[in-house]
Amino acid sequence: TSKFNQLVREEPDPIVKTMSLYAQDPSPNKVDVSIGVYKSESGGPYLFPCVAEAKKILAANDPGHNYTNMQGIPEFLEGARRAAFGEKYASEGKLASLQTISGTGALHMAFLFLREAGYTNYYLGVPSWSNYVSMVEHVGGKVTTFNHYREDTKDVDFDSVVATLESAPADSVFIFQTCCHNPTGADYTQEQWTKIAELVKQRSIIPLLDTAYQGFSSGDKEKDAWAIRHFYELGIEFVVSQSFSKNLGLYGERVGAMHAVVQDKEFVPNAQSTLVALFRSECSFAPAFGARVASIVFQSPELQKVWREDVANITKRLKSVRQKVLERLTKLQTPGTWDNVIKQEGLFWYSGLTPAQNDRLISKHSVYSTSIGRVNIAGLSDANINYFCDAVDEVVR
Ligand code: PMP
Repeated sequence: TSKFNQLVREEPDPIVKTMSLYAQDPSPNKVDVSIGVYKSESGGPYLFPCVAEAKKILAANDPGHNYTNMQGIPEFLEGARRAAFGEKYASEGKLASLQTISGTGALHMAFLFLREAGYTNYYLGVPSWSNYVSMVEHVGGKVTTFNHYREDTKDVDFDSVVATLESAPADSVFIFQTCCHNPTGADYTQEQWTKIAELVKQRSIIPLLDTAYQGFSSGDKEKDAWAIRHFYELGIEFVVSQSFSKNLGLYGERVGAMHAVVQDKEFVPNAQSTLVALFRSECSFAPAFGARVASIVFQSPELQKVWREDVANITKRLKSVRQKVLERLTKLQTPGTWDNVIKQEGLFWYSGLTPAQNDRLISKHSVYSTSIGRVNIAGLSDANINYFCDAVDEVVR
C-alpha cells in the first residue's frame, strides 16, 4: 500500500479559513480585522514610500539574478544589525548574523542554531503567535508554557514570567516578543525588561528575542529595540529573530535576519560558520529582491529618514483608530471595560470577545476577526470604525 496514502489530513491555520470566508462574503459592509497585515486608511495594502523609492533605484541599477552570498547580502545584514542593535553595538564584532526567509525563517534558523549549541528546552508565555510551538517541536525541541496575559487586568502577567524564570532549569530558552505582542498587544515595560534581564543573567537562561513589529509600538524603531540593546549591554548571550515584513511592508518578499550575540568575540567565527553551514542544508541562499530593496533603504540617509517617518505615521494612525474605537464603545455604553484597546500596542487588540461572539460577528455582521478575539486594528478606518463598534456592541449585549 502507498505510504503517501497513510498521511493524515492536517487542519489549516484557522486564519486561512477566516480569510476564505471573508473573500466569499458578498456583503458591501464586510470588515477584515483578521490577518496581521498593516493596511492603509483606504483599507488597501500599504506600500511604504521608502520602499517605493528604493524599488525605483534598484530597477535603475539592475544587479541581475546571480547567486548572492550564503550568509546573506552584506549591506542587508549590516543594516539589519544596525536596526536591531543600534550603530554602536552593531559594529563591535560580537554578532553572528544570517539573512533568512523572513521572521519565520529567522526563528527556524534560531531553533536549529540553538539545537546545534545544545539548547532544546523552551519556555513560552501564552497566548502567543500560533506558530512557535509547532516550529520548536518540528526541530525536536520541547516547549513549556506559562501565562503571558491576565484576563482580569488585560495586561501582561508579570508574576508568571518572574516565577517561571526563577524556576526554569539553567540553559532553558525563553521566547520573548520585543514589542507589539502577537496576539495580545500587551508588552513588558522597561522596568519589567530590566527585571527579566537580571533573572536571565542570574539563572543562565538564553533569551530568544523575536522582533516582528519594530517601530509599531512607540513609533520609533530605536525605542522599540530597547530590550535588545539592554540585554546586549548586560553581557547576556542571546538570539534575535528579525522580520521586515511589517515595518517595511515586504511580507511576500520574505525579508528577515537572525543574529546570535556571542560575548567572547573569539568564538564569533564559529557561530557564524555554523549558521552558514546550517543554512546551506536548508536553503543555500535567501531570496535577493526584498533584501536588496531593504539594503537601499538602510544605506541611504534620506530613505532612512523617510522610513522613520513612515513608521511614525503608521503608529499614529493605529493609535488614533484605537482611540476612536474606545470613544465609540463608550458612547454606545457597550457593557464591559474596553480601555485595553488604547493600552495595548501595535497592530493587535486582544478584545476579550469569546469564540461565540466572534462567530456572531462573522455570521450576523460580516466582521472577520479571529476566533481568539485578536482584532487587527489596521483593518479599521473612519469608513468602518462605527460599523465595527456597533457590531461589537450588538454581540456582547
Ligand atoms: N513573529 C511574530 C510574533 C509574528 O507575529 C510573525 C508574523 N505574524 C512572525 C514572527 C513571522 O513573520 P514573517 O515570517 O511573516 O516575517
